[in-house]
Amino acid sequence: MRIQDLEVYRAIRSEEDREKNNLLMIASENYASRAVMETQASVLTNKYAEGYPGARYYGGCEYVDEVELLAIDRAKKLFGAEYINVQPHSGSQANMTVFFSFLEHGDLILGMGLQQGGHLTHGSKVSFSGKFFRAISYNLSSKTHRIDYNQVRDLAKKHKPRLIIAGASAYPRIIDFHRFKEIANETGAYLMADIAHIAGLVAVGLHPTPVGEADFITSTTHKTLRGPRGGLILSEKKYGAKLNKGLFPGIQGGPLMHIIASKAVAFGEALKPEFVDYQKQIIVNAKVLAEELTAYGFDLVTGGTDNHMILLDLTKKGITGQDAEKILEKAGIVLNKNSIPFDKKGPMVTSGLRLGTPALTTRGMKENEMKVIAGLIKKVLESPGSQTIINEVSKIVSDLCHSFPIYKYLD
Ligand code: PLP
Repeated sequence: MRIQDLEVYRAIRSEEDREKNNLLMIASENYASRAVMETQASVLTNKYAEGYPGARYYGGCEYVDEVELLAIDRAKKLFGAEYINVQPHSGSQANMTVFFSFLEHGDLILGMGLQQGGHLTHGSKVSFSGKFFRAISYNLSSKTHRIDYNQVRDLAKKHKPRLIIAGASAYPRIIDFHRFKEIANETGAYLMADIAHIAGLVAVGLHPTPVGEADFITSTTHKTLRGPRGGLILSEKKYGAKLNKGLFPGIQGGPLMHIIASKAVAFGEALKPEFVDYQKQIIVNAKVLAEELTAYGFDLVTGGTDNHMILLDLTKKGITGQDAEKILEKAGIVLNKNSIPFDKKGPMVTSGLRLGTPALTTRGMKENEMKVIAGLIKKVLESPGSQTIINEVSKIVSDLCHSFPIYKYLD
């Protein structure tokens, strides 16, 4: 990068150092490849292209048309869906597109509660989803902390929502999209599957796909899918025209063609056989981390994981999620506090931690490193006031980061 703006340049270099020298375990983050990042920095950022390929409101769109068609074509191959829209700027805008295309103001939606692991856009009062629509939420089973499909069915039968949302930001288990679709069919609701977190796993068949089950599927492209920050919508062809209009001109203007190009690059990477190995390793790593932490006496929500994330319940450890997040970050382990189901503490404090393996796995870390990292987490959380322990753990974190450099992956 040219040193034209020293302040911004310094912040970017510092962020690069942070990403290199810490263990990034935020479940929704990843390291996009150099090709993905370079594409985002291309001349395509200059181009206006309102509309869709072949039907734009601007001239000079022949090359961006090529790019968007490549992204669509690759996403179709990756997910096996009939209709793809690669224009949403984010996962939230993908969800907004579905709502505004198929619901009326004030319609009822049913999604997983925010505190139980759902996303803000699944009906929270502070988001458009809970402001423009009436929202009710399902809880997880109070015994198993897994989705209670009978409860979802009962709520849907009683309240007759127009849309049911299957998907989560903090749920470590398989989601049964087929059962959700049965409930939606029984109660006359649309089903939207939000696969933002698990898109990479779905793409390679390591999580059951909602394609063929859900009416609408929304996603981000930057989590397990390892692309640029952005959104994606999949559906059957019959909903395509309405979704296209709902997105543009409905809620967005000009598409970000540099991001769409970069989505095409990421989808190309995801179609390669190595991506399957990568996703497999994400799950293996999460399982090993879960087993090790359990052996160290940590409680895991649902007792383990089927995907890329773990939710630790710290209640018995006598430390809040907020304090645990802070202290681990001092030692170079970056993750986030998270509410656990039926948490007695508020969202700024919480009783839990969410841990993810996508970024560590991108660095090339495997089972052995997960064992080491579980031991480090235990060490820090068992002596939260000890600077000696923080220094000791920071040194091991630093050695690990040097042994698994991200620039090796990026280059
Ligand atoms: N849906 C789910 C399940 C998510 O976890 C997220 C982001 O964390 C989103 C949607 C929103 O994505 P974005 O942050 O790109 O708006």
